[in-house]
Amino acid sequence: MTASLLRLGDEIDDYCPRCKLLLNHAVASMVGSTVVKVVCQTCHTEHPYKNAEVPPKKKSGPRATLMDQVLAKVAPPEPEPAPEESPTEPEEAPEPVRKKSVATPARYITRHATRPPRGKR
Ligand SMILES: [Zn+2]
Repeated sequence: MTASLLRLGDEIDDYCPRCKLLLNHAVASMVGSTVVKVVCQTCHTEHPYKNAEVPPKKKSGPRATLMDQVLAKVAPPEPEPAPEESPTEPEEAPEPVRKKSVATPARYITRHATRPPRGKR
């Protein structure tokens, strides 16, 4: 028999369902010498004592399902032809690429250093 002389307010490790971690807790309530409720010292949530046991992970949350879907798409190396082109639009000759008429050549701003910059001296 482990002599666990716990008292109210004592520090105890437990799994916090909110933090989802094994964290320090304070004993909040006891029945006899059994801890019933603890308060997470990180998020201050009171919850029943879980004997410091991390609960088994749920089978598959929505995220896992999504990941499975992605993996299912990735896993088979089937090169699926992607129908990117919309069927409603008839295939026309692509718009002739117009050369941008260079009416005026680029003008470069030049600063003539005729005057020395103001300021120092
Ligand atoms: Zn917590």
